[in-house]
Amino acid sequence: MPYFVNCQHYFYSGQYMVEIAYPGIDYAGSDMLATDYPGEGEYDDPREALDAAIKVRECLQADYPDEKIGIAFGHFDMVEGESQDLEELRTEIEKHYESLPKCDICGNIIKDKHIILDDPDFGRFCSEFCAEEAYFGNEEN
Ligand SMILES: [Zn+2]
Repeated sequence: MPYFVNCQHYFYSGQYMVEIAYPGIDYAGSDMLATDYPGEGEYDDPREALDAAIKVRECLQADYPDEKIGIAFGHFDMVEGESQDLEELRTEIEKHYESLPKCDICGNIIKDKHIILDDPDFGRFCSEFCAEEAYFGNEEN
């Protein structure tokens, strides 16, 4: 799953950060904390990842009350993240979500694109099930 919510204590800046690493765990920073808060983990939907990151930040904040803890979204394999304003972050995540390919049948985010092999221009779907539903659904009913 492409959105990885995790806690970091950055080596260079000393900043505590809740990362929404994208696309996936390989893009998380290298200073991950060994925390196990509810909400840490992987998500398919960036909006769910953001909601989780907000809850995780509350937990991290409770454990480190004297630190200013941020949330950041993006690639952190090369650079440490910078705390983002929550409203701006929500807007960015919403735009990012809009840009993701969605299934023509159910509207879910497409992770592995399924098409009708005999008719690849017919549509794009999240699953074999939705592809067949679209292609054969009318005939069966
Ligand atoms: Zn679907």
